[in-house]
Amino acid sequence: MAVFHDEIEIEDFEYDDDTETYTYPCPCGDQFEITKEQLENGEDVAVCPSCSLIVKVIYDLEDFMQTEKVKCTTNVLEKI
Ligand SMILES: [Zn+2]
Repeated sequence: MAVFHDEIEIEDFEYDDDTETYTYPCPCGDQFEITKEQLENGEDVAVCPSCSLIVKVIYDLEDFMQTEKVKCTTNVLEKI
């Protein structure tokens, strides 16, 4: 099984709004990456694309699920 290089709290990651990706510096000089979508799906493994290292992301799944926008569409059909 995979062995985590480290366990990093999500607060320590840097978030990029454009790519919706969280990054954290890897010892190899590149960065571990995990997307917001992955986190919302319950995934907690950030991978460095340049080496084989992975880290476990410590975060609260509920925090991410609550950020999803839920729009009520019941008022779409309006009768006059
Ligand atoms: Zn690396």
